[in-house]
Amino acid sequence: MTRSAGVVRWSDRPDGWMAGARWVPSPNFDQRPPGMPVDTLIIHFISLPPGVFSGDAVERLFLNKIGADDIDPQLASLADLRVSAHLLVRRRGEVVQFVATDHRAWHAGPSRILDRERCNDFSVGIELEGDGEHRFTESQYKKLAQLIEVLRTRHPLRWIAGHEDIAPGRKQDPGPWFDWPRALATRAAAGLVRPF
Ligand SMILES: [Zn+2]
Repeated sequence: MTRSAGVVRWSDRPDGWMAGARWVPSPNFDQRPPGMPVDTLIIHFISLPPGVFSGDAVERLFLNKIGADDIDPQLASLADLRVSAHLLVRRRGEVVQFVATDHRAWHAGPSRILDRERCNDFSVGIELEGDGEHRFTESQYKKLAQLIEVLRTRHPLRWIAGHEDIAPGRKQDPGPWFDWPRALATRAAAGLVRPF
C-alpha cells in the first residue's frame, strides 16, 4: 500500500500532528488565542502555478522558499507572502501537514463567519490541490472525509465553509467544482453546518 493510501490518525505528538500525513513544518504559524475552541473548518484550493498539479511549489510557498527571482513570474509575485495551511490534500489523496492543528495557521486572511472575524483564530484550514477549473478527485473527497472524521476527535467542529464564503469578493476557492452536497453528506461531516 502506498503512503498516499494510508489512513490518517493522530500521532503521539501532543500538539496535533497526524500520522499518515507527510510532515513539512512551516514557520508560518503562531498561537491561537487562549481558550479559543477550534470549531470551524475552512476549505481552500491551491495549485502553483495555477493548474499545475505536480511539483513542490505549494510546499515552497508555505516554507517561504519562493524567491522574487523565481523563473516563473507568477511564483515570483508570491515571494513576500507568509502563509500556510494546516493540511494539503494532493490530487491522488496524499496528505501533507504544515502546521499542527492546535496552532494557528495563516490561511484565511481577513475573513468573517457568523459575525466572528479573523477565522484563523478558530479554524483548521485544508487546502485541496486544485484550480477552480477541474473537478476534484475521488481520492481527495475520500481523504477529506477521513480528515474531517479525525479532526472531530480533537476539535469541536461545528461549522464548515469555503474561503470564498468567509472572504467574499476577495477569494474564489474552493470554487464551483467543489461538490459541497457530496462533502456534507458523508458520515464524517454529519452535523457540520455551512452557514452561508
Ligand atoms: Zn484559500
